Amino acid sequence: MKVDIVIVGAGLSGATAARILAEKGYKVLIIERLKHIAGHCYDYKNEFGISIHKYGPHIFHTNDKETWDFVNKFSKFRYYQHRVLSYVEGNYVPFPVNRTTLSRIFGLKPYSTDVKKILQQEIDRSNYIKPPLNFRDAVVSQMGEKLYSLFYKNYTIKQWQTHPENISADLAKRIPIRENDDNRYFADKYQGIPLYGYTKLVESILDHENISILLGQDYFEIKEELKSDILIYTGELDRYFNYKYGKLEYRSLDLKIETYEKEYFQQAAVINYPNDYDWTRITEFKYFLDEKSSKTSVCFEYPKASGEPYYIVMTKENIQKRDLYLQEVKRCEEMDNVFFIGRLAEYRYYNMDQVIKAAVDKVNKNILSK
Ligand SMILES: Cc1cc2nc3c(=O)[nH]c(=O)nc-3n(C[C@H](O)[C@H](O)[C@H](O)COP(=O)(O)OP(=O)(O)OC[C@H]3O[C@@H](n4cnc5c(N)ncnc54)[C@H](O)[C@@H]3O)c2cc1C
Repeated sequence: MKVDIVIVGAGLSGATAARILAEKGYKVLIIERLKHIAGHCYDYKNEFGISIHKYGPHIFHTNDKETWDFVNKFSKFRYYQHRVLSYVEGNYVPFPVNRTTLSRIFGLKPYSTDVKKILQQEIDRSNYIKPPLNFRDAVVSQMGEKLYSLFYKNYTIKQWQTHPENISADLAKRIPIRENDDNRYFADKYQGIPLYGYTKLVESILDHENISILLGQDYFEIKEELKSDILIYTGELDRYFNYKYGKLEYRSLDLKIETYEKEYFQQAAVINYPNDYDWTRITEFKYFLDEKSSKTSVCFEYPKASGEPYYIVMTKENIQKRDLYLQEVKRCEEMDNVFFIGRLAEYRYYNMDQVIKAAVDKVNKNILSK
């Protein structure tokens, strides 16, 4: 089969690249190993009319107007502002930590709570190494031992199955702490959920006469039969190079979805459980699009070591391996017309807006300008 461009993966990165290239007149074929498009932001409506995010809750947020305009060309959005509570010491308090959180934890009057003063007192009475050597020290140096223990210590152990002292300080360079009562989870200028879901958003991005899609097909099984001038790869980085520098590790999740015979299950779309139970958080999906139903569907998240790749693991060994693979990537992009985009192919944590921007930049700077 001869096309101009083959793209491996129908997630947001593959779809964005496909759309830009199709609009420039290139014939694009997308190969997707799953039986659905949209990759990790895939969602569907269950039998109770509630939209479920199959791979965990996804909220679109960005400060980049071009990216916001791009997604708004393909879908209307509900202007949803995400709010998260954290269940600590038997109470539900706003997270990230803000003035209300501190007044609740320290039993103070909300409007006379001086966030800067409390944090400084907490930091002064804590022990940590300066400059911080690890994640624990980095968080303690910003909020003190008590708040670190309530909100971060056990959550991190559940999420990464290792003590925060074994995790890089870089991951906690800037812990969000609000001096006011702003209880939004994200502070970005543009936030929302596609009104008809993420799958429909991606379907609309892919709806172009120059784009064809083959679903349920692993690229590596048919790669010899495909002929194209350019390949864009959005799958696992190590797999493309046949694991020559070793396997890159990921953390995975067990997502247990339950439906209850009541209108609402909890007070917010997402509630974190840093210290109690084995799950890290519970998501109640109907909040995202304000869906009405006499039932409600929720998702309990249990982190685990293996399975579907979710989060990259930022150990020194993995980063060293990634850098070796990225040298190969550089050579492929310069010499072979093979380009790598997205969370798997670049082995990095990307939000949806960042992955769209990365795809736009790579296509414009590295492919269309050649
Ligand atoms: C639990 C969780 C929650 C998140 N929440 C948010 C959020 O609230 N807001 C936000 O902005 N971002 C969020 N993200 C990040 C978001 O999911 C990613 O930024 C985005 O989905 C990445 O898109 P992608 O195209 O790079 O990768 P993917 O969506 O993974 O797409 C890659 C595609 O390539 C396919 N593929 C791989 N290898 C092959 C092969 N050999 N042959 C054929 N096909 C192949 C895969 O099946 C997949 O469909 C979250 C991520 C997680 C894990």
